[in-house]
Amino acid sequence: MNIVLIGDGGHGKVVQDIVMLHKNTRLVAFLDDKHKEVYKKGNLIVGPISFAQTIMSMFQDVKFVITIGDNKVRKKIINKLNLPHICYATLIHPTATISPSATIGHGSVIMAHAVIDSDSQIGDHVIINTSSVVEHDNIVGDFVHLSPSATLTGAVKIREGVHIGAGATVIPNIEIGQWSVIGAGSAVINPIPPNSTAVGVPAKVKEKHKMEEVLVNHDKNKKILLSPPHLSGNEWKYIQEAIDTNWIAPLGPNVDAFEKEMASYLGVKDAVAVSSGTAAIHLALSLLDVKKGDTVFCSTLTFVASANPILYQDAVPVFIDSEPETWNMSSEALEKAFEDAMLAGKLPKAVIVVNLYGQSAKMEEILAICNRYEVPMIEDAAESLGSQYKGKKSGTFGKFGIFSFNGNKIVTTSGGGMLVSDDLDAIQKARFLATQAKDSAPYYQHSKKGYNYRMSNVLAGIGRAQLEVLEERVNAKRFNFLKYYKELSKLPGVQFMPELEGTLSNRWLTTLTIDEKITGIAAAQLIQSLADDHIEARHVWKPLHLQPLFKGQKYYSHGEHKSISETLFMTGICLPSGSNMENDEQMRVIESLKMVILQRAKMTHPISG
Ligand SMILES: *Cc1c(COP(=O)(O)O)cnc(C)c1O
Repeated sequence: MNIVLIGDGGHGKVVQDIVMLHKNTRLVAFLDDKHKEVYKKGNLIVGPISFAQTIMSMFQDVKFVITIGDNKVRKKIINKLNLPHICYATLIHPTATISPSATIGHGSVIMAHAVIDSDSQIGDHVIINTSSVVEHDNIVGDFVHLSPSATLTGAVKIREGVHIGAGATVIPNIEIGQWSVIGAGSAVINPIPPNSTAVGVPAKVKEKHKMEEVLVNHDKNKKILLSPPHLSGNEWKYIQEAIDTNWIAPLGPNVDAFEKEMASYLGVKDAVAVSSGTAAIHLALSLLDVKKGDTVFCSTLTFVASANPILYQDAVPVFIDSEPETWNMSSEALEKAFEDAMLAGKLPKAVIVVNLYGQSAKMEEILAICNRYEVPMIEDAAESLGSQYKGKKSGTFGKFGIFSFNGNKIVTTSGGGMLVSDDLDAIQKARFLATQAKDSAPYYQHSKKGYNYRMSNVLAGIGRAQLEVLEERVNAKRFNFLKYYKELSKLPGVQFMPELEGTLSNRWLTTLTIDEKITGIAAAQLIQSLADDHIEARHVWKPLHLQPLFKGQKYYSHGEHKSISETLFMTGICLPSGSNMENDEQMRVIESLKMVILQRAKMTHPISG
């Protein structure tokens, strides 16, 4: 096991010795914010704490320990690092004596000659220092520090963050409240309230302190949402500009700038900001002259917004199944649909390909088919802004790409969308259609059917601030996925949505499937059980060919008898994936999931022995 110590001070040195004493642990890095840069010291990496995430990806089996004696600082670092419990090692000096019935949490360190007796429970990130004694049946909370030679006699309860000074003794059955400090050499014979300093023989409360906001644990009943908006703080700057210049209108400088910034980020020639992703799809279909009675091929496993605009044009959708590697449009099913259309003598006017939950569809294969039949492709990248396919940005593959800035998407303007293309003429036409198709004339003259689809200058301001943090949001979403994956991928019957080689998914939502035959629990029950724990999880999109709205429409499945999208719908679950989700919130989701799955597994396959 590779160990990274965070805290390069006196306590760190002592813990380093413990790491060296064990054959199966190897110290690979010392991180501390006193180191401003990353460098190598012999075989050791030295650097600032922010380097921790990079180290995670450098080594296979890497675990962390915070080696800072100050309990508050330890907790603040843990909160900031935002890693799952299992990423922290428990280190025990070989001379310590630990009862087999005692338990010790993650990230805790037990120093030389310490004793932990029967049925005592030690929490996470605890320091039990040299020669201290934790007798039987004690409960020691997270972030506690027992200084050298401190003694907890029996059945003592030490709450979170308590510091017990060197040589202090606590008599049996006493409780010490959270974040209190007991002076060195004190004898605690009465309970000590939270947030106090107590000293003396017998120990008396000398001082009360205020609880720091950062140390308060989150409300365990607070609802954890699927993908709530995550503002950057800079939105206000752009909104203020709009207000100061009185540009409270659709269109204006923020709209122009947002369009330019999106086009430049994506590497496309032009972009037009509109009122929603749905409006962008509608404009794309209008520009491709999709009319009454025309057909449009569309991914079936998607949100209804992908296909509703087909109905706006009185055209007919034909739904195409998913394939297992990306959950997106199957090129086999698409090929079959095209062959039938050819035979019937009526090719579709467009193909709408969706990139589900951030994962790009197999663009090369799909484009090859569309090009062979000379039918334009519209890429519904509403969920995949920030993703890539073979190094090229998602949403830039088709004749048109569309994005959504709805409240739950990876970046948001509260509501909004973008239509992008390399066809400058087409984007110019889209602007015209989206502003009521107003002819250039000295009065209001209209010769075509138009729409009121432009984005407001205020909302475009929010979009500009959000685009600035897109890369950060992608990293946070991918990190969410990594944590879920590390904690849950080994559970029997659980499989995560794959990431196709050569693609980078923004992991907008972390999504998995659950095999009821193995786990004994169906997706619907799991979603309900999470809801009981105030956690919002959702089914994977219900395929559009199964929607009452599209009853009777044609559908092409991936295999002869196998509908991939239907299986994904039956077994798939989207987990809370907010880029602003706190680590303890994600741990709640993980624990809740593990609990049900492992309980069911025991009931279905009793474990013997
Ligand atoms: C959100 C979404 C849309 C629609 O975007 P809106 O801005 O809500 O109109 C279209 N397609 C997919 C796949 C989506 O997830």
